[in-house]
Amino acid sequence: MNFSELGGTGMTSARTRARMIDRLKQQGISDARVLAIMGEVPRHAFVDEAISHKAYDDTALPIGFGQTISQPYIVARMTEIALGAARHDKVLEIGTGCGYQTTLLAQFFKTVYSIERIGGLSRVARERLSKLGAYNARLRHADGSKGLAESAPFDVIMLTAAAPIPPENLLDQLAVGGRLIFPVGTDEQELRLIERREEGLLESRLEKVKFVPLLPGLA
Ligand code: SAH
Repeated sequence: MNFSELGGTGMTSARTRARMIDRLKQQGISDARVLAIMGEVPRHAFVDEAISHKAYDDTALPIGFGQTISQPYIVARMTEIALGAARHDKVLEIGTGCGYQTTLLAQFFKTVYSIERIGGLSRVARERLSKLGAYNARLRHADGSKGLAESAPFDVIMLTAAAPIPPENLLDQLAVGGRLIFPVGTDEQELRLIERREEGLLESRLEKVKFVPLLPGLA
């Protein structure tokens, strides 16, 4: 990919990114692949110019339409967990948003399918990803809550919006050795992982999180 196409190869943003990486390490992110790629991708190019100076802060930021890009720590954490899947062939992301997480996944998986229900966000993300040369990302404007049966099975299914109950309907689309990563809950949410092993499903509760809700239908 060509990150200079989105601007931000300047020294200032490189230095701020380096500080973000130091912070991620202190917060417990240890996967060198994740740290390296987050040190390269110009996160500020994924948010409005007016708030781009905050892009490397440890916080979620608005991306329009009432949605947010997750804080760097949680994006790093979810990417680390995704890399624990047995194979890195196909990943399905539900909730493209600004396309930042999609861009990271596109580095590590052969094909990234990403679904977004808000047309305006999907369109802008598509433009960014094509400028970046992320030709292995397939974006779709649709309701992702039923997954993408025609392209299943996936090695990873990642939800970046929270459902009130675990999205067990998606387990049918998960490959053996695959990982379903999702925030669940309404006011109180937690990040969970379900692994499909040869011998069955294994669920782990990871940590408290705060995501926008998974909503039905198109917008
Ligand atoms: N990964 C994104 C996070 C965006 S926030 C990023 O890096 O920016 C979550 C996104 O999920 C929002 O854009 C929201 O519109 C989308 N979303 C919510 N419900 C959805 C659904 N049923 N199908 C697809 N996308 C959905």
